[in-house]
Formats: sequence, structure tokens, C-alpha cells
Amino acid sequence: MSHLVHRSLRQDPPLALRGEGMLLYGQDDRPIIDGSGGAAVACLGHGHPKVIAAIKDQLDRLAYAHTALFSCESAERLAEVMVGHAPGGLTHAYFCSSGSEGNEAALKMARQYFLEIGQPQRTRFIARRQSYHGNTLGALSASGNAMRRAPYQPLLSPAFSHVSPCYAYRDRRDDESEAQYVARLLAELEAEFQRLGPDTVIAFVAETVVGATLGCVAALPGYFEGARAICDRHGALLILDEVMSGMGRCGTLHAWEQEGIGPDIQVVAKGLGGGYQPIGGILVHGRVIEGLSAGSGAFMHGHTYQAHPVACAAALAVQAVMAEEGLLENVRAMGALLERRLVERLGNHRHVGDIRGRGLFWAVELVRDRATKQVFDPALKLNDRVKWEAYDRGLACYPMGGTIDGRQGDHVILAPPYIVTAEQ
Ligand code: PLP
Repeated sequence: MSHLVHRSLRQDPPLALRGEGMLLYGQDDRPIIDGSGGAAVACLGHGHPKVIAAIKDQLDRLAYAHTALFSCESAERLAEVMVGHAPGGLTHAYFCSSGSEGNEAALKMARQYFLEIGQPQRTRFIARRQSYHGNTLGALSASGNAMRRAPYQPLLSPAFSHVSPCYAYRDRRDDESEAQYVARLLAELEAEFQRLGPDTVIAFVAETVVGATLGCVAALPGYFEGARAICDRHGALLILDEVMSGMGRCGTLHAWEQEGIGPDIQVVAKGLGGGYQPIGGILVHGRVIEGLSAGSGAFMHGHTYQAHPVACAAALAVQAVMAEEGLLENVRAMGALLERRLVERLGNHRHVGDIRGRGLFWAVELVRDRATKQVFDPALKLNDRVKWEAYDRGLACYPMGGTIDGRQGDHVILAPPYIVTAEQ
């Protein structure tokens, strides 16, 4: 009997004992292809010697020093690598231990920014119904993922409201062009600003490419440009959550680079440290930092393990390897191949409703009926069955159920490490 609280309290998972490159091995020593890098985390695969050496080296020198008194070299250097060249005007970085913590930091920094610049009446956030921003209470309040919200609904903050996502597969009407659909969504966002009072809104929060809520859904052209313009018109911030879709996953270092806009605050995690250490963070636009600096001069949100030396050393090494080995190019090339293969092999399958994604971030949406897009009965626990069937065949993938507007759906995410080869 295991004494560990697993995700399921009814079934203990198999033990993972070691990892090498694209492969994971358990007790039976059978190779399992890590087809989703966990939950789109292991971007370099497993056991990369340079990352391991960097972690060991950091541990030999310094494991921990409290940030109330000290900074550390690896965190300083990681911030420089991430925002030293001010991508999209992002000039500062804050590092924490997970994507949820990153979202909490983003929400609180955005609120504090408006306090500092004399707009204390801004107390509201607008997010989207197709979204997952984390399991801590602030991040879960931002999340639209109904399944994950449901048990904790009474604890969630009323400061968040949710608008429709850009989910063309299900929500674009047959009589609508893509541009008309985008215009309808932007009108809804504008109406939500007006309903709340535009000068009460702190930020619009969205995943640049939706991850774990019927995922890998990129917005249609013009959507984020329009959302950015609405935020600007009302003086609100744009927070983009790239915990899953960022750090190269979609073929560019940041997914927003493909949208023609940039965020005021960007949340990063998974691919930042590639699973070698727990690390997340936010990248912050210069104007937000200026507001904070001119006001109290402090971000009122510290964590014991913020900017952890070993976590930052690992992330620094992961980012160095990505650059040295030209892995973004491999993401684009292997992503195009993965798309072709998925469409060839599964495109006409009677239970595949949609195949979508960017870079090495692909989802197959499963439906009972392709024509009506009718979903499977949730009682079938299809996602769990797909996960274990794939595992039996030597593949670790990331199947997930989701509910949007009361509609349950099923999808499987494939997000292999960036080192994946054509053969694999
Ligand atoms: N944001 C997004 C887009 C995510 O996909 C996730 C996790 O899957 C999170 C936030 C939460 O990150 P974490 O599980 O590291 O707290």
C-alpha cells in the first residue's frame, strides 16, 4: 500500500525509475516513449548531461540563500537571458516554483501596479471559459476549466469573470467567416469591459494557445491583436499564460511572437526548466516595473523558494542547450511532420473530430460522432482508457477531459520533447 496521495486514490501508478532522452523506464524495464513530455514539460527529454552538470555545479557552490538578503548568480543570469534583450518590451523576470505560482504572481503584480499608479478602483479580471491557469485559488479563479473549478467553487474569487474562448472547431457558426467569428468574440470582450466598467478592469488573462482544456487551440488571426487593442483602449493589462504553450513549444520561443502582439505580463513554467527542477515565473513589461518602482518600490509577493539558485541554474542550462542545439528549428520541422502523420493516420478516423496545434503541441479531439461533434459519455472515462492503452503499447501521452459551457469533451495532447527524431 502506498502512503503517498496519488492523483487517484484507488489505483497506484507504476513507478518511473529512470529516463534517457525520449524514453522512460519503469520496474519492468520496458522503454516508454515520452510522447507528451509529461504535461508538455520535458522539452529536452531526460538525463541531458549538460543540465545535470549545471545542477551539480550549482549545488556544490550554493543550494540556497534567502532573497530577502541575497540575489544569486544563476537567477541574475537567467533573467538576463530571458529579458536582457527586452523581447516585446519585457525587461524584468521573477522566478517561482510552478505555473500556478507564476499566475498568482502575475495577478498580484497587475493589481499592485494599478494601486501604485493611483487606480485602486481596478479590481476585476476578465479571463476565458476555455482556460487552465493553475490549481491554487487565484489561478483557479482565473481558470474557466469547469471540471477543475467545480469542487472549489465556493472558495473562488468573484473578481474574475469569463468570456468565450476562440474555439473555432465548436463555436464558429456555419454562416460565419473566421473574421466574423473573431469580430463576434471581440465584441463580447468589449461588452464585458463595459458591463464591469472599463476602468475597473485590471487585466484580460488568456493562454496564448489553450493547453489542457480541450487543448492546443490557437486563436484565429486578428483575435489577439483585437484583444490587445481593447485592453489598450481601456488602460487594462494583457496577461498571457504561456506555461504550456511557451518556451519553444509552439515553434517560436514565445507563442505570442506568432500573434503580432506582446503581453504586459507573461507567465512561463514547464519548458523553462524542462522538468529538471520545479521552476516557473513571469516576464514583465518595462512600463509595469516603472509603475511599481515609482510607487512603493517593492513587489509585495515573496516566496521562500523564489529565484531558487538550483532551479535557476537548471533553467539556464536548459535554455542554453535549446539555443546551442538549434532545437527551435527541430520543433518546427518535427511539428510539421507530426501534423502530417496525425492527419494521414487519424484524419479520417470516425472518432477523431479535430486535429490541431502548433510546433510540437498537438491535440486530437475525440468525438462519438464526427458529423454532429457529439462527445462521448464522461462515464466511459475515455481519457483514462486511452492513457493506459497507449502505455501498454509503449507510449506516454496526455489525454484529458474538459468541460466548456457544460459540454464535456475528450482530447489527447502530444507534446514530445524538442529532441524528437523523425523515426521516433
Ligand atoms: N497554466 C497553464 C496554461 C497550464 O497548462 C498549467 C499546468 O498545466 C498551469 C498554468 C499550472 O502550472 P503548474 O501545474 O506548474 O502549477
